Amino acid sequence: MVSVRTQTSATLNLNPRTSAQRGGLTVCTLKRGITRSWLCMLMVIAGLGLVPHPAHAQASLHIEDLTWTEVRDALKAGKTTVIIPVGGIEQSGPHMTLGKHNVRVKVLAERIALALGNALVAPVIAYVPEGQVSPPTQHMRFVGTVSIPDDAFKAVVDGAARSFKQHGFTDVVMIGDHGGYQSLLESVATRLNHDWAKSTIHAHFIGTYYDAAQTPYNQALRDRGLTDAQIGTHAGAADTSLMLATDATLVRRDQLKSTRDAAAAKALGVSGDPGASTAALGQIGVDLIVSRTTAAIRQAVARSR
Ligand SMILES: [Zn+2]
Repeated sequence: MVSVRTQTSATLNLNPRTSAQRGGLTVCTLKRGITRSWLCMLMVIAGLGLVPHPAHAQASLHIEDLTWTEVRDALKAGKTTVIIPVGGIEQSGPHMTLGKHNVRVKVLAERIALALGNALVAPVIAYVPEGQVSPPTQHMRFVGTVSIPDDAFKAVVDGAARSFKQHGFTDVVMIGDHGGYQSLLESVATRLNHDWAKSTIHAHFIGTYYDAAQTPYNQALRDRGLTDAQIGTHAGAADTSLMLATDATLVRRDQLKSTRDAAAAKALGVSGDPGASTAALGQIGVDLIVSRTTAAIRQAVARSR
């Protein structure tokens, strides 16, 4: 079947906006001289969905989707908190792409910003420490993982935070999707608050974001009958379910195999049973992370005042 998307603009020379402006939702003429109002209407509807709507762009909470004047206006309107989401490029077995942390933290940061009501989301910090490069340790033992030195990572987070302070954000929040650098983020926030002691600007490292995906989420999965062996600690049922609930396109469903051979799974970079994963289970984790992180940010901001 030929895609409507291609036909709408290229083959059929049909401009939905022009048709709509002419009141042409029910009558329009295709290039070949065929008048088919039902087809036209279908294409106009599909076409309208493809045209970026200015209101949508302005409504984005992601700074990289906005112009500088839109960010300026958002600040003036009270969006004075910025969330710096930290991800990572790391193997997650044969069934999840290397961008798991980056995509997931971006989706969740947006939901947290939406819940807060006064926050924007900074671009995701994608390059993070993932172990020694040579000889490789931890996830670096798997192709595709990228690791940078701790100091380089801290300098990037620090520089981003100072940039947002300079532009007028009053609260700079850091959340990290990967476990290994949590203490590094905390140390960056501590240093910033030391340097900003005489100002009313504050950095907030929110460890609750990561912690909510550990003990409370794992307990919720146990309550639904999963074993610790299924839940796992990396790329197992807990981790993979979270990914299914945030962006399932990163999950290779044909690779969601269960195995009782923990050694074989470990050789593939997996701890746990991805075969037991579902988006519904992951949604439990999403709700926990968003609600607890939102509450923790509010508490941290209130404490700092
Ligand atoms: Zn990780």
